[in-house]
Amino acid sequence: QEMERVRAWRGPAATSDGQRVDLLANVQDGDSAAVAARGQAEGVGLFRTELCFLGRDTEPSVEQQASIYAGVLRAFPDGKVVTRTLDAGSDKPLAFVTQPDEPNPALGVRGARIVQLDAGMMTRQLDALAQAAGEVGRPLADTWVMAPMIATPQEAADFAALVRERGMKPGVMVEVPSVALQAEQVLEHVDFLSIGTNDLSQYTMAADRMAPSLAGLTDPWQPAVLRLVAMTAAAGTAAGKPVGVCGEAAADPALAVVLVGLGITSLSMAGGALPGVGARLAQVSREQCASAARAALAASSPAQAREAATAALAG
Ligand code: PEP
Ligand code: MG
Repeated sequence: QEMERVRAWRGPAATSDGQRVDLLANVQDGDSAAVAARGQAEGVGLFRTELCFLGRDTEPSVEQQASIYAGVLRAFPDGKVVTRTLDAGSDKPLAFVTQPDEPNPALGVRGARIVQLDAGMMTRQLDALAQAAGEVGRPLADTWVMAPMIATPQEAADFAALVRERGMKPGVMVEVPSVALQAEQVLEHVDFLSIGTNDLSQYTMAADRMAPSLAGLTDPWQPAVLRLVAMTAAAGTAAGKPVGVCGEAAADPALAVVLVGLGITSLSMAGGALPGVGARLAQVSREQCASAARAALAASSPAQAREAATAALAG
């Protein structure tokens, strides 16, 4: 019966009392975007561009990049598509970017930090995305682009300036705890935030996201991580700017309820997880989401947070 409800679910997603939540897909190329578009995704919340180039030794040309990015934009002619600039390094090394001998790659020159190595790589990628938008007829003002691994308001400002010069809409990912703590200042520069709970958990808990033995620490139900999500969402609400979640946490229906209760406005995940999340949100009211969120925040462990959120929804 539960499975039937999930199978039958159709978007757009909303709580039982009509609060809309954008349910978006994480994609890595035009093909995966097309699959997402045939399913229940309203758009793309995370296009991981680095995954397009894992096998390459050299930087792709602007034209090559533009044609790949256009393939993703084309899958959702009217939907939101958030492209992420290259997140090379650590768990996703790119031969033409990544420094081979970093002692501590997760804390090294990864993500948007490539501007330190080669500022042109960032601007060429932004040029390629603007070109792709032109090719598919998408307005630049509706071309959302975000940078991974931002750590300071200044980095957000520098990235936003490059994006605005090209007429596009800038955002940054919240993956480093410093950005959650300074979300208000970061939001002075960008139009949206997207929380990457995979890395936010890794950096908050100082536990490698790839280490199975540390999975208890990197659990996105960790109340410390939820508090950073809450701070970020509250800053977004105060600034009137959208704050999404695009890490694995968004795909857990019970956690999705908590995230919406914390003020998150969009959830992006593997396309297959969307109906489960959408069907769950349809069963709960805004107030129930908020009370599940309050209960989870007050817990002292991931297990307690999960139990407290479930109990709050049952009550
Ligand atoms: C994240 O860190 O949660 C995220 C969505 O980015 P990635 O998994 O690609 O690092
Ligand atoms: Mg990440």
